[in-house]
Amino acid sequence: MLVGRLGARGIAVTGVTKAVLGDGLVAGALLRAGVSALGDSRIENLERLRRAGSRTTLVLLRGPMRSQVDRVVATADISCNTELAVIEALDAAARARHTVHRIVVMVELGDLREGVLAAGLEPLVRSILRLSAVELVGIGTNLACRSGVVPDATNMAELSALVAATERITGRRLAVVSGGNSANLDWALGTGDVGRIDDLRLGESILLGREPLRREPITGLDTGACTIVAEVIESKRKPTLAWGQLAQSAFGAAGAAVDRGVGVQTIVALGRQDVDPDGLTAPEGVEIVAASSDHLVLVGEGPLPIGTELRFQPDYSALLRAATSPFVEHAQVAGPLPS
Ligand SMILES: *Cc1c(COP(=O)(O)O)cnc(C)c1O
Repeated sequence: MLVGRLGARGIAVTGVTKAVLGDGLVAGALLRAGVSALGDSRIENLERLRRAGSRTTLVLLRGPMRSQVDRVVATADISCNTELAVIEALDAAARARHTVHRIVVMVELGDLREGVLAAGLEPLVRSILRLSAVELVGIGTNLACRSGVVPDATNMAELSALVAATERITGRRLAVVSGGNSANLDWALGTGDVGRIDDLRLGESILLGREPLRREPITGLDTGACTIVAEVIESKRKPTLAWGQLAQSAFGAAGAAVDRGVGVQTIVALGRQDVDPDGLTAPEGVEIVAASSDHLVLVGEGPLPIGTELRFQPDYSALLRAATSPFVEHAQVAGPLPS
């Protein structure tokens, strides 16, 4: 859906796999849907994709660690960069491999995460031009991640202007102008003029069907494609108020509990080591009241039979952590899950 709608506006999609740890089956689904490249922040995930047999263009989204430049050059076709010291190290690593490594320079447009300030772009580009084994193929920006800065006509026009300025220095057309992440969709699908932007790096919107600025569902997309299933290990009638003298709990101060008399308390085998509990939506009939390393405490219906599987809807943060936990089994199903 997104590949089609953005394609009509001249924008290709880099499918971002970090929230599923570079999962090969998800990557395959993205490629069948027509993404032009796969992107991930972690070299380990790109290596996993390469090992799974992907021959597509792999883009490293986070600025490479200088200690990993050999691995980056070996596996990533393109990396996003902001530091000359790292770019020089990539150049040396690429020369050693008798190859040329392609780079995108990320520009800071106000969100205050990664990026060179506009004023620093020209000197950096001139330094890159002196290197023989890195090729500057594009520029990009990232908004709405750290500070929530909204991609709009102003900052996107600034990116297009920086493309023109860069091309005046290099004398060559930039092949990649990466406008941002899922937060750019409102702008990209609404604007009358995309300028020079020809790529977006999309993760959350594809996996969860929501745009991240207001977390509204995107028309036509499925918001239930990812589910976290947890098993009931205890379910009993208990008072809702703890007793005894109270101090800190395992994760700091315990929130003030509300006395709701005796109710049903259910524990599922899921904890902070597996998910971000604040990013879970509980199924109908139960409410999440607490989480420790390994226990998610719910109140509501029941007692539920031991072994019951409860299905939770993750947000991006919960999905990321679930994908990373070795205790969460990952399963792909072709069709909608039975409810
Ligand atoms: C994670 C990431 C993305 C994807 O962001 P979504 O909001 O999931 O679409 C894009 N670009 C960079 C640099 C990222 O780190």
